[in-house]
Amino acid sequence: MSKKILVWFRNDLRLHDNEMLVEAIAKSDSILPVYILDRRSFGETKYGTLKTGNIRAQFILQSVLGLRNALKQIGGNLLIAEGNPEDIIPQLVQEYEITEVYHHREVAREETHVSTLVENALWKLRINLKHFIGHTLYNKEDLPFPIKDIPDAFNQFKKKIERDSIIKPCFAAPDRINVAEVIDWGTLSSLEDLDLSAQQKDQRSDFEFTGGEGEGLAHLQKVIVAMQQAATTKNLILASKLSAWLAMGSLSPRKVYWEIKKMEGVPNTKAMFNHILLGLLWRDYFRFMFKKYGNTFFNPDGFGSQGPVDIENEQDNFQKWKNGQTGFAVVDAVMTELNQTGFISNIARQTAALYLINNLEVSWIFGAAYFEEKLIDYNPASNWGNWANMAGVGNDQKLKSVFDLDKNIKNLDPKGNYALTWAS
Ligand SMILES: Cc1cc2nc3c(=O)[nH]c(=O)nc-3n(C[C@H](O)[C@H](O)[C@H](O)COP(=O)(O)OP(=O)(O)OC[C@H]3O[C@@H](n4cnc5c(N)ncnc54)[C@H](O)[C@@H]3O)c2cc1C
Repeated sequence: MSKKILVWFRNDLRLHDNEMLVEAIAKSDSILPVYILDRRSFGETKYGTLKTGNIRAQFILQSVLGLRNALKQIGGNLLIAEGNPEDIIPQLVQEYEITEVYHHREVAREETHVSTLVENALWKLRINLKHFIGHTLYNKEDLPFPIKDIPDAFNQFKKKIERDSIIKPCFAAPDRINVAEVIDWGTLSSLEDLDLSAQQKDQRSDFEFTGGEGEGLAHLQKVIVAMQQAATTKNLILASKLSAWLAMGSLSPRKVYWEIKKMEGVPNTKAMFNHILLGLLWRDYFRFMFKKYGNTFFNPDGFGSQGPVDIENEQDNFQKWKNGQTGFAVVDAVMTELNQTGFISNIARQTAALYLINNLEVSWIFGAAYFEEKLIDYNPASNWGNWANMAGVGNDQKLKSVFDLDKNIKNLDPKGNYALTWAS
């Protein structure tokens, strides 16, 4: 019997630096690339928010179609289905006589739960689900310590990992692919099918995110050009805006690292290189902490106990915050920008979070759930991990006292222009 491997794409929507895909091609006669739109990721949460709002939903749909086009260009295609992976994958395994299923391992509870359901269902068919690691800059296997011994303090984590570990080279993107014979490759739902509507572009925004590997790689090149320009103009723009493509896996963190590393030696580029690298390390850190501690990050008291919550006014205050109607101009501007574009800077995220937690005394859990709905770059570990830190209930207790609302506002909006621009 010929060997056919089903490659289950999730948040790894790329051809470059994709070990799972490279190995599947090498070890099979043909592969079946599959993406499953799981409606559970679009439902309502117990906090009255959506799991995925319209802006990220649009970005996801673009990213999936981008992957399909990329696969077509190398002689393949992407089978698109809708439903529960634990139902659909076993059906496909039987229909296409699949011999093994590959996927990337996730770290947060809902995602790992789905993997377990798929694994159990496949087990009944005596089919193996092989797990790959491909979301981080540093591979778990290359760490100088087991997951349980990863330092909780970010600075120690950074120091040790940079000293004792390596960043692997990228896997080359395949240039030819042999896929199973499929009669109907399926169509992707539209935003309307998901009961969502397209967001109108806000003229105040100077940036547009379009999902897909091609767009992600093109944006990475723009970042490199910006680094080169910074070298001559000394006009440093630190925020790379790479996060949305990284979250969908349309860009691999290693690809980002090795591309920006090429700029090493070019004068005045070090600050931006260090800034992006630091961000990628934070990203790894939260993923590893989720692996180490799992669900604790979703608990309101996390690794400590959260501050005072004004239960009586909590819902009212939460609504005002969400809608940018707190009466506090900078926070309202941040929330308007988030609602209109799906993206705000790190300092804006911190500002909104601090205000919700300390001034409005709303449980941080509501804020995290709302960011989950709205952020175009949402990923569970970065979002819930950062929020837990802001609320002082993260596992690095040293971070508890470093956040200061006034200081943030001075940095975010020194002259008041930001608040004016994003006044709703
Ligand atoms: C309350 C709160 C919620 C957040 N939620 C998310 C989220 O859901 N998804 C997300 O990607 N980031 C999240 N962040 C982290 C950070 O704000 C964004 O990654 C960053 O603003 C994205 O912009 P950039 O691509 O220009 O980042 P850059 O500053 O250019 O950094 C490069 C990359 O490093 C990563 N990164 C940078 N800072 C962090 C950080 N503190 N934590 C984790 N990764 C980081 C991102 O992938 C980013 O693209 C959150 C931060 C806060 C305070």
